[in-house]
Amino acid sequence: MSEPFDLPFQSDVMPKMLSPDSKIRFRCHKGISCFNACCKQADITLTPYDIIRLKQRLGVDSSEFLKQHTVPFQMDGDGLPGVKMRTNDDGQCLFMTEEGCGVYEDRPTACRYYPVANLAMKPKDAPAEQIHYALVVEEHCKGHEEDRELTIEEYRKEQQVEQYDDMNREYMQLILKKKSAGPTVGKPPELSLQLFFMANYDLDRFRRFVLSDTFRKAWDLPEELYLDIEQDDIALMKFGSRLLKQVLYGEKTIKEREGILERRVEERKDVIEMRRQFEIQRARKKEDEKYSEGGDQGGCNA
Ligand code: SF4
Ligand code: SF4
Repeated sequence: MSEPFDLPFQSDVMPKMLSPDSKIRFRCHKGISCFNACCKQADITLTPYDIIRLKQRLGVDSSEFLKQHTVPFQMDGDGLPGVKMRTNDDGQCLFMTEEGCGVYEDRPTACRYYPVANLAMKPKDAPAEQIHYALVVEEHCKGHEEDRELTIEEYRKEQQVEQYDDMNREYMQLILKKKSAGPTVGKPPELSLQLFFMANYDLDRFRRFVLSDTFRKAWDLPEELYLDIEQDDIALMKFGSRLLKQVLYGEKTIKEREGILERRVEERKDVIEMRRQFEIQRARKKEDEKYSEGGDQGGCNA
């Protein structure tokens, strides 16, 4: 069994499965009676590329963006972290204005696709993911009653989702791999989940981590890559996906520095020695207590 990626918008309506050539009847425009209705009940899951586009548009760093505009959620039972767009108490997207979307040119992938859902699936043992589409027909959306027919492919072009799909591919693969592996992969350690969050969503913090001395000592990257990572959010995002594939699924594409384990032990020698001494002291104390308890109770020599 394969598992579809989450539908971008919450809907009770069962979507119909479609191919790129399938025709849909749909048009959304400012004069329509339901204008903004979808953004008043927004449930938007953000991808790393969505966050890059929005944080760059707003001129804030990723940590600030996450704090102001998102809420975290768990994508699966193992706590794989995701982020959704923050809304007001009534469920309205904070970017909605009377004139429409306040960040239209940089609106997230899910907003571009709606009412089409992009359902990426990874059947078990299949070499790559498969893309299917679905049409979500909701009562409030009157765009389905408009007199215009177009194919899914034409709709994707109109909404300029191709670039978004390209940029989202690696991230989708990370999630699908986890889903298709099921319980065999098990729950990732807490540190890996934290790395997943930072490398995907809090990119500016991830950049500081990758450029730190600690990271450079552990991983053997070419200087040009460090330079790209320093200057370019997309290069950093792509490197994050590589690192996560290595850490989570053992897909080795990044060289670890030789002798890193030995160096770590060397660097932590003092701490290790301190712990060793502490353990010895504790064991001795336990032994002493045992003998002194024996004395109180009247031992063989009493
Ligand atoms: S980002 Fe724009 S299109 Fe998407 S829900 Fe918000 S206002 Fe609507
Ligand atoms: S037609 Fe649908 S997508 Fe367009 S504004 Fe209305 S509810 Fe939103």
